[in-house]
Amino acid sequence: MQNEQIISTEKEKSFVQSYRHREWNDVPDEKWNDWKWQLSNRLNSFEEISEIINLTPTEANALNQNSLFRVDITPYFLSLVDKDDFNCPIRRQVLPTEKEMYDFSGMNEDSLSEDEYSPVNGIVHRYPDRVLMLVTTQCASYCRYCTRSRLVGDSSKNYNSTDFDNQIEYISNNPQIRDVLLSGGDPLLLPIKRLESILMRLREIPHVEIIRLGTRTPVFNPNIITQEFCDMVEKYHPFWLNIHVNHPKEITPELQQACDKLSKAGIPLGNQTVLLKGINDTVEIQRKLCTELVKMRVRPYYLYQCDLVKGAGHFRTPISKGIEIMEGLRGHISGYAIPTFVIDAPYGGGKIPLAPNYVLSQSPNKVVLRNYEGFITVYTDSDQEPDQEITSGNRKGKDISIMDLIQGNEKFIMPQNFRNSKRED
Ligand SMILES: *Cc1c(COP(=O)(O)O)cnc(C)c1O
Repeated sequence: MQNEQIISTEKEKSFVQSYRHREWNDVPDEKWNDWKWQLSNRLNSFEEISEIINLTPTEANALNQNSLFRVDITPYFLSLVDKDDFNCPIRRQVLPTEKEMYDFSGMNEDSLSEDEYSPVNGIVHRYPDRVLMLVTTQCASYCRYCTRSRLVGDSSKNYNSTDFDNQIEYISNNPQIRDVLLSGGDPLLLPIKRLESILMRLREIPHVEIIRLGTRTPVFNPNIITQEFCDMVEKYHPFWLNIHVNHPKEITPELQQACDKLSKAGIPLGNQTVLLKGINDTVEIQRKLCTELVKMRVRPYYLYQCDLVKGAGHFRTPISKGIEIMEGLRGHISGYAIPTFVIDAPYGGGKIPLAPNYVLSQSPNKVVLRNYEGFITVYTDSDQEPDQEITSGNRKGKDISIMDLIQGNEKFIMPQNFRNSKRED
């Protein structure tokens, strides 16, 4: 892949430069805008980072611990960090603190029990019609809350061509798999020829209908989205891509350009966000993030509750916070800008959607609903078939509402035949 990124106008150029910390002012634009230069100049040690950022003692101590999850930050992404603000939302995603060493209840290394759902190395087959195909353990920068920190960053656990052969063979042999989701690590860090060979082999499998890819590299190193990459991927449609933006500050002119190129190659774009305490856990930030994403033609897909993964306990928000945020989105901003809030349940429970409750009460043919403003309304259902009718033992066939229970007119509501089938009277 060569760097074909050309910053087209003087205005964009000055915008790009304004992001650079002073220390990088003498780096020529050709280098700064070259994704390879960004990768080979990543920062990971206390010595390197402290030249750019005013580190606090807890950050300094964490960087000097060699037992922690790997650190690596592209100069581009570090340039988005406020060098004096410990609470900067960009900074907290990539710079460790001592809190990563704290244990917490419910903590797990493999918090989604993915290893139990892995028939061959790198395949996670949790749902009937789709699989996760992990193709690398490497990322452009390392998120401190990484769900797969048990593997990610560790080059000794990387996948090799035998693993790819086994993964492809597993997918070929399981015709129920119609959707393959490339992940890792970050698949965009594979050499373009390697990635293309995987896409080509997947496309040779007749039952594979769609191919998806999850990546955060456009956020950490946006110029990796070259025309060469887009032209390559276009040959393997339908191909969908999810990026991973957590905060509106990550939406830079560079990321916008990258997304524009991908959209022009006919790739539908989605976004996955992890809800992180102190980083993006307010209605205001999420509204801004989601509406800005839609402006660059990226559809918010999932908002994830933070996993119970080792090292990430301090990022957890109460589940009620996520529900409150969803309450603050629906009705207030375009439906296109609203993700689904999900918790990927511990012990391999899979993704479970969570939402505010809009159904207040149900009776056999009435449903009491509220809207986002608190307006309460009633919808009259069509008449139900007798065998679906809910009735009570003492007022068979009559409508009983939750209100009857509250007012004490009735003791319970039960499905017809409930006693007959389940108990002796
Ligand atoms: C998230 C995930 C998928 C994809 O799920 P969708 O809801 O279809 O996006 C597939 N497999 C695994 C193991 C996953 O964690």
